[in-house]
Amino acid sequence: MLYNSKLVRHCHNSIFRRNVATLPKYDFTPKPYTGPSLQRTDEIKANHIPPAVHNIYRKPLVLHQGRMQWLFDHEGRRYLDLFGGIVTVSVGHCHPKVTAALHEQINTLWHTTNIYRHPKIYEYVEKLISKFPGDLKTVYLVNSGTEANDLAILLARAFTGHEDVISLQSCYHGYSSTIMALTATQAYRMPLSVPAGFHHALLPDPYRGIWGGCRDSLSQVAGSCSCIGDCVTSQKYVHQLSELIDNSIPAGRVAALFAESVQGVNGTVQFTRGYLKQAAELIRSKGGLFVADEVQTGFGRTGDAFWGFENHDVVPDIVTMAKGIGNGFPMAAVVTRKEIAEAHTRAAYFNTFGGNPMAATVGKAVLEVIEEENLQQNCKDTGKYFIEQLMQLQKQHAVIGDVRGKGLMLGIELVEPGTKKPLDKNNVSDIMECIKDLGVLIGRGGRWSNYTSKVLKCEKTKEPIVEYGKVSKFDGYQITLENTILFPAGGGQPHDKGWLNDTEVLQVLRKGDEALHFTLEPIIEGSEVVQRIDWQRRFDHMQQHTGQHLLSAILEKEHNLPTTSWWLGAEECFVELDSTTVKYEDIKTAEERCNKLISEGISVNVKFFKANDPALNEAHTRGLPKDCIDTIRVICIGDIDENMCCGTHVTNLSQLQMIKFLGMEPGKKGKTNLRFIVGNRVLKTFQKMLDREKALTALLKNEPSKHEELVSKMQKNLKLINKNLQNVLAELAQCEIDKIRNSEPKPKYFCLFKKESTPEFNRIICKGLETENIFILLASEDPDKAKEGQIYLQGPEIHCNALGQQ
Ligand SMILES: [Zn+2]
Ligand SMILES: [Zn+2]
Repeated sequence: MLYNSKLVRHCHNSIFRRNVATLPKYDFTPKPYTGPSLQRTDEIKANHIPPAVHNIYRKPLVLHQGRMQWLFDHEGRRYLDLFGGIVTVSVGHCHPKVTAALHEQINTLWHTTNIYRHPKIYEYVEKLISKFPGDLKTVYLVNSGTEANDLAILLARAFTGHEDVISLQSCYHGYSSTIMALTATQAYRMPLSVPAGFHHALLPDPYRGIWGGCRDSLSQVAGSCSCIGDCVTSQKYVHQLSELIDNSIPAGRVAALFAESVQGVNGTVQFTRGYLKQAAELIRSKGGLFVADEVQTGFGRTGDAFWGFENHDVVPDIVTMAKGIGNGFPMAAVVTRKEIAEAHTRAAYFNTFGGNPMAATVGKAVLEVIEEENLQQNCKDTGKYFIEQLMQLQKQHAVIGDVRGKGLMLGIELVEPGTKKPLDKNNVSDIMECIKDLGVLIGRGGRWSNYTSKVLKCEKTKEPIVEYGKVSKFDGYQITLENTILFPAGGGQPHDKGWLNDTEVLQVLRKGDEALHFTLEPIIEGSEVVQRIDWQRRFDHMQQHTGQHLLSAILEKEHNLPTTSWWLGAEECFVELDSTTVKYEDIKTAEERCNKLISEGISVNVKFFKANDPALNEAHTRGLPKDCIDTIRVICIGDIDENMCCGTHVTNLSQLQMIKFLGMEPGKKGKTNLRFIVGNRVLKTFQKMLDREKALTALLKNEPSKHEELVSKMQKNLKLINKNLQNVLAELAQCEIDKIRNSEPKPKYFCLFKKESTPEFNRIICKGLETENIFILLASEDPDKAKEGQIYLQGPEIHCNALGQQ
């Protein structure tokens, strides 16, 4: 993309021109590097480090020594560490006082566990508690922020007797199978079920929040309000929180509200001023506790106060802390009121490593250094200088959409210039890389990252578009991308639709291992494009397709009815069963069984096999494309079914909502087609039926339960009326005949146009006057088609022939 290269060039130019790249002198020589080469670390990472662990730079950094604010890589390069090991190194790498204290402790005693007493823990908890206001006097020492927040949930539930816990959208409170439910950042949510009872409230973000607002920072969002005291918008965001509680949580069941004092992982997002205080009051009025997550904001980082919550004028019921507490030593803590801790005595509590002699020693030394070196004031002063400089940069560079934060917890938000659209992640990576190459390490957070890919080929094509079996002509382009998130047609599942930047993708087809994207406009080869997917369409396909897996598995296993093929249509789907004698009761039982499994929330997993894997024979194979040779995907529905498939599926049967059979009919020779719909289609169909029923109710002027009776009555009446009409018309015809027969002199011709007359009426008249030697012309109108109808001519041949022509 043109923009991409411009931006990078701009970044380099401005930096090099002003020559800000020189780091201040530092008289220190790091030890020579003796660890594995960068290439060896690549190999070890590929073989032994979990693939979910990502390194942030394109050329990974191997760091082996640190000294205060500096880090050294394997090539001896020095970096100014502004990120501090993700907001953790609070007093400097290998700070001499902390290091000396730890050395002394290591030579004295490492470990006892908390079933004994050791002096360090007592010295430490007293020191830590001196930093807290109010009744926050009881300390749990644990090992990580995740563990601290997990314990805080337990304490809040034990004390209140309530279950439901609320956190703010885009928050990060840690990573475990329980805390994943508290963390509301999609990037950290595995597509697996999480415990029930967690809710996420609207984020009061002055930059992206729907009501904007002002915050506790020198830098405000351009054009925001500048309220004195609490921001006026806080009330609106708090009202949303109360709506969440009143709508989603059983009455009187809220256990706690968790909030960071400034959201860290989300990119240093501050809340509107006054929000946290009002939210804490609300939660207490509903019977819950307020838990402050100080993992990133604690230990003086925000400058004005030792704890982030103090900036919000609120005293929490529980405070969790980690990271900065140990300057990199693995330790964390939960501080609470005594009465809350007392609710935790109904079971024993034990923690092997929490508060061990080394951790307690480090924690105490860190607190002493923060005091002795006046680091809180340093955060305030340096932070003020820093944010003022960032605000200057914002004026010069439209790519900086927002500058925010306080103390040494600062962030900038990168956007497409002149918009609030998040900057493409490749551009963000370029900027990150550029800053690292200048010798400065910073962090990157937030939830905005786009799927992008490079355009490899753009060719003209006239290949038709096939939409649910309907073929239509096409004259446009086929785009080949390096990578795609759009699913191509295959395996009975229709293709995705979506967009490449703002160009609509009308069809995606797989050719070999390439996916071709059909567009009406060309896209420049070599450019980067942002991919977006028509998610509603995709999710519908996932529901129908997974429903088919489930349905076929149950019909085959429990009713001996194997599926031979299947169809996903625009309105309905069907499976083709290899039988002509499918029993209605079997279908009903299978439907009930499928819906029971859906309500049980059975998980749907994907297993990967190499094509030659012997374990693959155990998995059931159906409909795998012949050119699929490399990695084979096997879709497993609990222990109910295993099936090779390259389609897209939901991750849990509960996402199907329900399955509904619509009926069956004979298919190809020896087959039966069983029609069905799944999920949202059931709701849509139900809506259509409801609309029809409403219309009928209005027409019949009676309730739906009477519709059948009323319609059948109307049909009977109509039959009777018709029958009577026929009789009346027949009598009328006879009258006409008698009238003519009896008239003197007898007329030579007889013409009659009777709009409503029936063929029967005309036939009777013709028959009755057959022997009278009168020329007859009869005409009538078709009741369903105006200006069309019947004409009868009867009489001497010569007249009929002459008139019939006309
Ligand atoms: Zn305001
Ligand atoms: Zn499938």
